[in-house]
Amino acid sequence: MSAEPPPASWDIPGQRRAAAVLQGACARDEVSHAWAFVGPAGVGQEQAARTLAAALNCAQAAEGAPCGACDVCQRCRRGAFPSFWEFAPSGSFHRVNEVREQWLATAFRSAVEGRWKVLRIIDAHRMNEAAANAFLKGLEEPPPNAVWVLDIADPDELPDTILSRCRTVRFVAWTPDELRAETRRLGLDDDQDRALAVRASLGSPVALARLAAPGGLDDLRMHREIPRRLREQGSGYAVLAARQLDEEGKRRSAALKAEGRAELEALAELYGDALPRGVAKQVEDGLSRREREARLSTLQAALDDLVGWYRDCLLVAAGGHPAQALHADDAKALQADAAASSPAATLRAIDLVLAAREDLELNVQQTLALEALFLELANLALTT
Ligand SMILES: [Zn+2]
Repeated sequence: MSAEPPPASWDIPGQRRAAAVLQGACARDEVSHAWAFVGPAGVGQEQAARTLAAALNCAQAAEGAPCGACDVCQRCRRGAFPSFWEFAPSGSFHRVNEVREQWLATAFRSAVEGRWKVLRIIDAHRMNEAAANAFLKGLEEPPPNAVWVLDIADPDELPDTILSRCRTVRFVAWTPDELRAETRRLGLDDDQDRALAVRASLGSPVALARLAAPGGLDDLRMHREIPRRLREQGSGYAVLAARQLDEEGKRRSAALKAEGRAELEALAELYGDALPRGVAKQVEDGLSRREREARLSTLQAALDDLVGWYRDCLLVAAGGHPAQALHADDAKALQADAAASSPAATLRAIDLVLAAREDLELNVQQTLALEALFLELANLALTT
């Protein structure tokens, strides 16, 4: 993960069309009170929402673009501007009390600073029915000078009554060329590493950044060895693998912790040590949320790697050429794993991993859940 958030700028990699729509709306002063950012998560929605907040509040904005340099723009860029909020689900869903007590309450309160409030709802498609009904109120009677931004990966999960009240902007997965350019920017210089990172990222710059971070590709290579090691070492390795993933999650959230401390110090300096309590709390809440999310997304990404490997095994077992596989660089191991397990057992393994991935979101004991998964996979390897 790159430490510096991208600038408050409409130059959003891979999303030229979305950026043009948003900038145009700002330039013509036709900013809708609600936007649906529809597309795969993590392809530039964060930068777009923060740039929108900057464009609406920067005193030097011109032609719908923020200056990018002033204090307002800098704080929007870090997500630390007091009239910019990001709400993420606290569990697997956004809940009705969060909608009432946090989203709507914030939207109808007058702004602490700045002319426009921007409220970004992360994973908005994860509102349960009661939450969606409560939220409709905020769309039907829009609060003054407030703009909702809804990140929606799966529009089918939201009632039409919500979607029809938003202006839709499409966000798209990155192309291989864009991903390749990004690997260079991220400092991956080995050709094989670059190719593996691009294939394994599946079009997501967030996944790519994770893979390109120090140790990222080593982690991926560790994940894809799990099936072989479970087969060879059995349940003893199940416990070890769970512990390794646990360490990985901690390592990733530790980096965020350091970043967060620096952010708070920068803010304290800006406010001359009189950091308003509300602002400090907002930043601290945001930080602990991001740490939790970083840990969860690290574990989920590890399981995604595992699923990718099993899918490759199915491809090879079905007679596909290893060069078509995500893990084309490790064809020998792929063939060995494909030969060691029946396709039915591999499919069963994929099901187990996907179920565990979902369980992780429910705030279960994550390390225990992983241990249980790996024990099941080890048993499956023994019986096939
Ligand atoms: Zn500015």
